[in-house]
Amino acid sequence: MHSEPGIREQIVEIGRRLYANKFIAARDGNISARLGEFLYFTPTGMCKGFLKTEDIVKTDLGGKKVEGIRNPSSEALMHLEIYRLRPDVYAVVHAHPPHATGYAVAGMALDKALLPEVILTMGRIPLAEYSTPTTEEVARAIRDLVPYHDALLLSNHGAVAYGEDLESAYFKMETLEHFALISIVAKILGRERVLSEDAVKRLYATQGRSEYQGGTSETRTLRTSGCPIPAEALESPSEETLTLTKSELFQVIDEIVSRVRRQS
Ligand SMILES: [Zn+2]
Repeated sequence: MHSEPGIREQIVEIGRRLYANKFIAARDGNISARLGEFLYFTPTGMCKGFLKTEDIVKTDLGGKKVEGIRNPSSEALMHLEIYRLRPDVYAVVHAHPPHATGYAVAGMALDKALLPEVILTMGRIPLAEYSTPTTEEVARAIRDLVPYHDALLLSNHGAVAYGEDLESAYFKMETLEHFALISIVAKILGRERVLSEDAVKRLYATQGRSEYQGGTSETRTLRTSGCPIPAEALESPSEETLTLTKSELFQVIDEIVSRVRRQS
């Protein structure tokens, strides 16, 4: 897809998938791609599920429009910041997938070592601080995270994923939303069993990767900050949600009270 017509067609296709999968509603979300000295953006104010190739806006690498009947995405500043910080990135996808955005609204990152495939493809998905959408604030809020992560949650807003091409950026968005949904199901079932440091190391070893050195989030080096948090590094590694019925809870309280009475 390394041609302008190919890029335009692929942006239209990714927009269609984002809308069909309900990762965006109404006129939400935006997509961009880099080709040579130009960027290609979805237009502002349109539903991304029904774009035509001529709706795509061509800009220079600074985001200045060079061709197009519409204006580029209102979140162009966020995209520009990602391209500036990551020369290896050629596509950016921003959406509001509901489960992942639920995490972003709850102020929770998707950063635990829970699923091998997510660990290998994306590592940790951190939560960027809240910033006013469409402003320069967004670029500032993601600045420290972009070099070390390929997908971010944006507090009280949504998510952004990026990669070497449009397909990989979109798949990261799909994987993070799927991961969020699975994490929520695990929480509803009562607990998340986080993988151990050793399990994560062995997983990385299957791909000949040695960057995982473990440690707590404080001691972890920047190079390894993309790794997910293993069980040992969690604040309370054995913390699990325990579900009791009312009568079971009263029984426990009764036992404690009668034990205290016997001792006094
Ligand atoms: Zn948004």
